[in-house]
Amino acid sequence: MNKVEIQPFQLAKKHKCNCCDRLERIERRLVLWHENQVVGDLELCEQCLMAMLNIINGQEEIIEEWEFQKGGMSNG
Ligand SMILES: [Zn+2]
Repeated sequence: MNKVEIQPFQLAKKHKCNCCDRLERIERRLVLWHENQVVGDLELCEQCLMAMLNIINGQEEIIEEWEFQKGGMSNG
């Protein structure tokens, strides 16, 4: 089973957000678990962390999946 855990840092530090690449005060990180193993972690600024949590909790929807390979505009 997958799960997501939020781990607070004891000391907030200036760090590059793994999501938006801005240098922000990072206070918490998102740790991804699969079974009983950590498979990855993300150091996110508050904004990205909140957005991520909303998505995880199903409060946001993916509006459109972007296909980078296609290129150009598709008008249907
Ligand atoms: Zn960010």
